[in-house]
Amino acid sequence: MQTMTYEQAQTHLKTLSREFGVKPPELRLSPNTRGSYYHTPHWPSTLKKFSLAERNSYLRGVISVGLADPRWSLQNTLLHEFAHHLTCYLHGPMVNHQRPFCESLERVTRFFYGDTRLYPWKDEYVCVRNYAKRVGLCE
Ligand SMILES: [Zn+2]
Repeated sequence: MQTMTYEQAQTHLKTLSREFGVKPPELRLSPNTRGSYYHTPHWPSTLKKFSLAERNSYLRGVISVGLADPRWSLQNTLLHEFAHHLTCYLHGPMVNHQRPFCESLERVTRFFYGDTRLYPWKDEYVCVRNYAKRVGLCE
C-alpha cells in the first residue's frame, strides 16, 4: 500500500538534495521485494581532499526501495536512505548507522518534517533509536 508515486518520491529526493547541497541519488523502486538499500558509490581515495561541490561531479548514489515491506512507508524509507547518501558525501563510504549517520538523519528529518518527533525513531535500528533518545529527538 503506497500513497506516493515514483515522481513524488523523486521530487522529495531533489528537494532534500538541493537543501543539503548534494546531487540527487538515483531511485529504484521494486514492487515485489522487501528491504531497502543505499548503494554506496565508488569513492576514489583522493576524494577526501575535494570540496562538496567537487565531490558532486564524481559521486552518484543509488537508493533501492523494496515496496513489499509493510513496516515502513516509502516516505520514511526515503529519509533514512537519503541520510546514508548525505553521510556518504560528508564522511565517505565507511559509515553505516554510527553517529555521523544519526546526525545526518536528524538534519534530514528536521528539514522534512519541521519536527523530528514525526519520524518513527522507535522503528529504527537500536543505535539510531538510542541516539534519538539521548539528544531528545523523540520521547
Ligand atoms: Zn540504513
